Amino acid sequence: MAAKEDYYALLGVGKTATADELKKAYRKKAVQYHPDKNPGNKEAEEMFKKVSEAYDVLSDADKRAAYDRYGHAAFQGGMGGAGAGGFGGAGGGGFHDPFDIFREVFGRQAGGFSRAGGAGGGGFFDEMFGGGGGGRASAVRDGADLRYDLEITLEEAARGVEKEISYRRLVSCERCSGSGAEPGSKTVTCPTCGGAGQVRRSGGIITFTQVCPTCGGTGQKIEKPCTKCHGEGRVQQTTKLKVNIPAGVDTGSRLRSAGNGEAGVQGGQTGDLYIVLAVKEHELFERHGDDLFCEIPIKFTLATLGGSIEAPTLFGKATLKIPAGTQSGTTFRLREKGMPSLRGRRQGDQLVRVHVEVPTSLSNEQRKVLEEFATLSGDAPTEPASKSFFEKAKKFF
Ligand SMILES: [Zn+2]
Ligand SMILES: [Zn+2]
Repeated sequence: MAAKEDYYALLGVGKTATADELKKAYRKKAVQYHPDKNPGNKEAEEMFKKVSEAYDVLSDADKRAAYDRYGHAAFQGGMGGAGAGGFGGAGGGGFHDPFDIFREVFGRQAGGFSRAGGAGGGGFFDEMFGGGGGGRASAVRDGADLRYDLEITLEEAARGVEKEISYRRLVSCERCSGSGAEPGSKTVTCPTCGGAGQVRRSGGIITFTQVCPTCGGTGQKIEKPCTKCHGEGRVQQTTKLKVNIPAGVDTGSRLRSAGNGEAGVQGGQTGDLYIVLAVKEHELFERHGDDLFCEIPIKFTLATLGGSIEAPTLFGKATLKIPAGTQSGTTFRLREKGMPSLRGRRQGDQLVRVHVEVPTSLSNEQRKVLEEFATLSGDAPTEPASKSFFEKAKKFF
């Protein structure tokens, strides 16, 4: 490795330079050698690293004192040196974040290395100058999604319904517009990270970044917390919401109401509200997918002679023809009287199973007529009703 250049020389300042002079000098150099201004220029990239390193040391009073006494020997390894301790080890101060300067220079939020593993796809330099999202975003938290369990009737599920629901959620505090700072009060630069929002540690060529433990990554500290939200930026509030429930929903159906979950922190996205439906059991109808099933008693004379009945459905009465000779337990299908399909398929059917009722008490006249009927049919009173049944049963006697 070539002999390291003097840090003061790199920044073009004298050994007695003040902190302000150092900062100014560093800004100038950093802008001059910034990779975005010098795409593909290895030399500029090297210089950019060197001036950053120089400033990292000289902007820290302790490190500067050590450098003044021992020179580069004070920091074995350092930038480009493999494996050596680097700067972060002692004191834990870490590198000064050069992007803090860029933030000021370019008037935008700069992205830090810590975002590399986070959300948002852009490359490193895209993130640095790409506007939204950035180093300070580490304190940005999205609001949680919320769940609301709602019970509805089968009728409501069949026709669709509008429901008003009321629930508690965290919303952005109106008093401080979500900032957490009392209106009129100042936010001050975080003393721990100097506003960077991150603490950087370097081990050779690898740089680690940590979210600043003091400010949680915002780079700022609230001087006076908002009196309404106590600095949280969010408050609990009851929200009333009209929910349109489409026809065809079933128990377990989820409706998403975008943006009606919890408010985010520091500009994070608001979560969604999920309404999870439960359809109450119905006293008449049983649901099987989109089909409805019910059992209807009919008189034995109707089953024998045929006719029609008015069958109840969720959409009013429907006429159901009962053919002559209908057996108990026969199932009839009322087309498209079942549940509407959520998936745009054909509406379900209603299945009606008839149960033939046998009279339990007869008047003398009724009995006489039925006995005549039995005689006409040639039925002996003890015989089972069906011949085929009698044939089958024979082998058991
Ligand atoms: Zn507030
Ligand atoms: Zn901080």
